[in-house]
Amino acid sequence: MVDSTSPGSPDPARSPAESIFEEVGIVRDPANLFHQTIEQVLVAADLAGLQHHQRIILAEPKNEVMVHFPVLMDDGHHRLFKGYRVQHNNALGPYKGGIRYHPRVALDDVKALAVLMTMKCSLAGLPFGGAKGGVKLNPRELSEDELRRVTRRFCSAISHQIGPHYDIPAPDVGTDSRIMAWFADTYAQMTPEHSRQDVQGVVTGKPVPFGGSRGRDKATGQGLVHVLEEMLPELGLDLSKIAFSVIGFGNVGGWTAKLLCERGARLVAVLDHTGAIGAGRGIDPRRLAEHVDRYGGVANFSGADGIDEDAFYSTEVDVFVPAALEQMIDERRAAEIKAVVIAEGANAPTTPEGDSVLLQRGVEVLPAILCNAGGVTASYFEWVQNRTARSWSIEEVDGQLRDHLVAAARRTREARARYDCDLRTAAFVAACERIGEVYDLRGVFP
Ligand code: NAD
Repeated sequence: MVDSTSPGSPDPARSPAESIFEEVGIVRDPANLFHQTIEQVLVAADLAGLQHHQRIILAEPKNEVMVHFPVLMDDGHHRLFKGYRVQHNNALGPYKGGIRYHPRVALDDVKALAVLMTMKCSLAGLPFGGAKGGVKLNPRELSEDELRRVTRRFCSAISHQIGPHYDIPAPDVGTDSRIMAWFADTYAQMTPEHSRQDVQGVVTGKPVPFGGSRGRDKATGQGLVHVLEEMLPELGLDLSKIAFSVIGFGNVGGWTAKLLCERGARLVAVLDHTGAIGAGRGIDPRRLAEHVDRYGGVANFSGADGIDEDAFYSTEVDVFVPAALEQMIDERRAAEIKAVVIAEGANAPTTPEGDSVLLQRGVEVLPAILCNAGGVTASYFEWVQNRTARSWSIEEVDGQLRDHLVAAARRTREARARYDCDLRTAAFVAACERIGEVYDLRGVFP
């Protein structure tokens, strides 16, 4: 007879997540992004029927690397920086995930983002696990030379923990292809036993002439457009006729806006760290991108009116695209948003309380691990091109990206039908099923 209190036989009075939290020693803090994320994953893992040992494996990252390193600043003094690399799970393949430069980078947030990468790569059908990294700094306050020295020193500090067959970083908030080029070059200097070409795949999101892939820069926005194409018809919306708003006008927000407008959609409001703008007649995203390049943000753009944050959130739209930071759509903002659909371009932009409000109000939330999977999918294509010494055409990249994203959207929809749950849970269930299947097949060492 099975002891009802033994591991694997959870106490029926507690939720599946609560008993695992207690077992692995997590003291749940409702405001902690890592705890929120793990809870969502554990609920899905339970629905997907994952075994007890598989659920405890997913509840914590495999490795958490924290480094401190000094860098010479332009004024002659040295500053100490704090960096992270968290490797959550590699059951499906090498760890994969971005590197973020932001003043609020903190361990538990990086852990949450690494978990989301594990789930995203699984949902998108990629042969990768999940990781995330970052350095606590404000890139806008550093000169180009300082940024280069920070990047090279951070890469050297974690060089023994990454590699083209083990853990492959990529760009995220505050980092770009230029930083990936410095990263790849530094890694090549640290591993002189390999040729530069052999280790080029240590990071993705590189510039195209230096081992990058065509189409990688726009891929996250492009993927979001493919997901909308697939999911909007069942909500009675036609992509070419929607009005939409965006939080964030960086890589994800900027490309999403440009690509949606190319398809006929109308951008009516944008919010970023410098302010908010709105124009019912539509905002030209290419002109806005030029303005952001020149002035660093959307504020004072001549092609729209300045509006306040409250007006931004309550602008009536068909599709609302958060594409900036985590946890921006809380209970209050969720009550204000006037949209049919929220397409999460950013990772974890909605708090659990915000999610509940949106669910009650009947707003459809297309979850981040589906909507923004285009970036890591194109990163996978870059890695494959590096490994095979080939260079794909833009048509090949675009076609394969579309196939992957449409398949992921269908997997999510199909899991929703099977488990009668919301789309976020469904996306996590579909991701957990693939990971569970692999653990069933390979077991746990030794
Ligand atoms: P980015 O650095 O290019 O742009 C970030 C944007 O967020 C900027 O426009 C900035 O103004 C805005 N922002 C920052 N703080 C803000 C605030 N307080 N209020 C409003 N706006 C604010 O970053 P990105 O690469 O576009 O990433 C955005 C999100 O998408 C992140 O959650 C990231 O993890 C996720 N993501 C990025 C990729 C990628 O390929 N770059 C892939 C998947 C997911």
